[in-house]
Amino acid sequence: MEYFPIFLDLKEQPVLVVGAGEVAARKLALLERAGARLTVVAPRALPDVQEASRAGRLRLLEREFEPADLSGQRLVIVATAQRSLNRWIARLCESAHIAVNVVDDRAASRFIVPALIDRDPVLVAISTAGTSPVLARRLREQLERQLPARLGSLARWLGQLRVRVQRSWPRASDRRRIFEALLDGAATRRWLAGDEPGARRAARECLAEGRSAAPAGEVTLVGAGPGDPELLTLKGLRALQDADVIFHDRLVTAQLLDLARRDARRVLVGKSPGRGGSSQEDINALMIDEARRGQRVVRLKGGDPFVFGRGGEELEALAAAGIPFSVVPGITAATGCAAYAGVPLTHRALAHAVTFVTAHDDGDQALDWKALARPSQTAVFYMGLARLERIVTQLRAHGADPARPAAIVSEGTTERQQVLTAPLADIPSLAARAAIGSPSLLIVGEVVALQQALAWFSVGPQEELARRA
Ligand code: SAH
Repeated sequence: MEYFPIFLDLKEQPVLVVGAGEVAARKLALLERAGARLTVVAPRALPDVQEASRAGRLRLLEREFEPADLSGQRLVIVATAQRSLNRWIARLCESAHIAVNVVDDRAASRFIVPALIDRDPVLVAISTAGTSPVLARRLREQLERQLPARLGSLARWLGQLRVRVQRSWPRASDRRRIFEALLDGAATRRWLAGDEPGARRAARECLAEGRSAAPAGEVTLVGAGPGDPELLTLKGLRALQDADVIFHDRLVTAQLLDLARRDARRVLVGKSPGRGGSSQEDINALMIDEARRGQRVVRLKGGDPFVFGRGGEELEALAAAGIPFSVVPGITAATGCAAYAGVPLTHRALAHAVTFVTAHDDGDQALDWKALARPSQTAVFYMGLARLERIVTQLRAHGADPARPAAIVSEGTTERQQVLTAPLADIPSLAARAAIGSPSLLIVGEVVALQQALAWFSVGPQEELARRA
């Protein structure tokens, strides 16, 4: 082992930093958080460092380093731009038995500073002993993705619980069992999801029994995004990897389901147009049943669950049944398709508002078509293709310019994405000729004109179409 790993308590300890450039400033920020008593010596300091000195957060000596500066220091970090100066200071530290780090000079350093994943108070430190900083960075990125953002908060909470548990359970083996149950169970999942009251309830049950109570089920409503599996959020991914059973819609792709825990049961509950499928009541009952049996249920929906996704209705049913739930938003089809088609939904010169609309056969009357037909704004219609003709007719009847730019995006963000643009009046016939499929949405507004210049995503059939044209 090249290095001995330690975490050092630096609260109120004298630490010297030589140099006050960018690199030094980064180290200073970290040292300050650790509560060190900081001295910085440098003839020229960055404004940030000067500001910190004025605010009394550190002592700044604006001059060259002098050997006497080392006196009484616990730790020294050297970060001037001059290698020979750095090495001279390092040698002085060595003879004084002060631990020294020279930035970017491992050979001259007594200690090195690891790559850090910071979920304070949880810290994960990574070192490759200088063999490959890029490898260290990659590892850090991977761990960053895997460790929940609320891990630090969880650790603090467990710390509080520990005091209580210690009082009631004198045997260490009992305490360990309780904390394992807390960590593997609903209490931790609720806490990480951000439902602190739910977590406290689960913990109370767990502590009351001195062991994991009957497993408490729960439902996480997850937005899967519009198609590209990489548009799933990190939180969504975590929920999929924790799931016992996943109820998903037809819009959710196989690729996305592949990201779920291998043993999770996957159940398609989507409705296909005209072909029935599970009714909303069936779906609600299924979720409630599984959760009552202690299962971790994920309800996975295309796009965002709260945008034309009936997410609200499902939660109402869960709330009425007393099932704990949380919601992970997703990228909705409108923003996903717009991004991948190169259509900015708002634009300072072209559109000051954007409206997401769903048009059903029975919903025509409810919509303010006049407002939707107005210029200088964007309207995105989530719809079955069969509705296209009606929508265009309504917009034109309410004053929309027939030449208004419009686009249809079908299977947006996937390898099968197609984008058709045309003046509003020509869109229905163009869509029919191109025989585009579902799901697709219609974007109407001046911003669509930017598409030609801004389109960037182009794979598969889209390319073929362009070649044929
Ligand atoms: N909750 C979903 C919307 C469900 S309604 C969301 O937030 O995106 C279903 C409609 O969404 C489809 O009829 C279609 O208009 C639109 N849609 C969903 N995914 C799409 C995609 N990949 N490309 C184009 N339209 C899509």
